Amino acid sequence: MLQKPLPDNLQPETLAVRRAIEKSQYGENSEALYLTSSFVQPNAETAARRFAMEEEGYTYTRVGNPTVTSMELRLAALEGTEAAIASSSGMAAILLLGMGLLKTGDHVVCSQSVFGSTIRLFAGEFSKFGISTSFVSQTDVANWAAAMRPNTKLLFAETPTNPLTDICDIQALADLAHNGGALLAVDNCFCSPALQQPRRFGADFIIHSGTKYLDGQGRVMAGAICCSQKQVDELFLPITRTAGMVLAPFNAWVVLKGMETLGIRMQAQSERALALAQWLEAHPRVKRVYYPGLPSHPQHALAMRQQSASGRGMGAAVVSFDVHGADARALRRNAFATIDAVRVCSITTNLGDTKTTISHPASTSHGRLTEDQRNAAGIGQGLIRVAVGLEHLEDLKTDLSLGLDLL
Ligand SMILES: *Cc1c(COP(=O)(O)O)cnc(C)c1O
Repeated sequence: MLQKPLPDNLQPETLAVRRAIEKSQYGENSEALYLTSSFVQPNAETAARRFAMEEEGYTYTRVGNPTVTSMELRLAALEGTEAAIASSSGMAAILLLGMGLLKTGDHVVCSQSVFGSTIRLFAGEFSKFGISTSFVSQTDVANWAAAMRPNTKLLFAETPTNPLTDICDIQALADLAHNGGALLAVDNCFCSPALQQPRRFGADFIIHSGTKYLDGQGRVMAGAICCSQKQVDELFLPITRTAGMVLAPFNAWVVLKGMETLGIRMQAQSERALALAQWLEAHPRVKRVYYPGLPSHPQHALAMRQQSASGRGMGAAVVSFDVHGADARALRRNAFATIDAVRVCSITTNLGDTKTTISHPASTSHGRLTEDQRNAAGIGQGLIRVAVGLEHLEDLKTDLSLGLDLL
């Protein structure tokens, strides 16, 4: 062993740069990238035991890979869960969750304002297999309670939501789920464990799109479920090793290194987002701003309580706002004009990047929803989403002013 085992009770900042598998015999300081599809076995007997899962040891990257394991260990340490299992994307993680947990005849209660593809997955794909989903307005626990049935197996929430930053009370939903014999999954993409650890409030599964803040620089796609070791071993690993929605080692390595700077990035990006949200709220061309860090946000107090893993409540880095407009057509025209005027921000739907991104949710990330689904989620044609990166605040304000001042 080249390095003594890590002491217990390390702080998140330390775990973010230290938690991983042991170094190889070469003692590399930066984590090794094991870019290999298979692993040589010492002999046939050992190979047989490893394939039967009777002995630890890597065999084939669809079953496990040391770089992927390092990423899983680091993420679990940050989320405060016993274990994590990585997947090829955030959506693959949600697919894996459903495949592991649900069967024909089961029922799911899901927030109606989760990520667009999440809605499509539950409403479209899972329904093909006889799994029904009720979509509820997310903020009021009474809506969730009313939708529960005897066959409800899973509650699925996202907080804050994309793009309107609705907050749900994780503890209240966990209690509701557990009293009804169900489990709670929380998509923690927007806050990341640097700001919010849903496990502390009773969530059973924490879902990640590693594509966003965990990578943090918009390079790769990745996903994960954080949960107990037993759940990984019994519910999810049998599926990933069979069905293959595993994370590629290279992508795992990028995310592993990305997590080293997660804490300081989330803090810096949240601070800029708060300042930008305050500025937008005072802007005469802006009708309404959605940002949990603003006292005007309907669930500001709850957000500050839940999103305080860093030691103080923070609103995260996504700010959405409505421009003015007389009708849907005018709203869309004004939103497009604001977006098309930018010269610094990237017009793209990704978020969680060091580069600020700007998008029109109604025609992009949420464009595949029906008009009814969009209206239910409150995503109008005048809505613009800004995922704040690390540029200087004044440059971002100038960039958004280019279009806004002309409206
Ligand atoms: C992007 C995103 C996902 C899906 O993740 P992919 O890595 O793109 O598959 C899920 N949930 C939220 C909240 C997201 O923003």
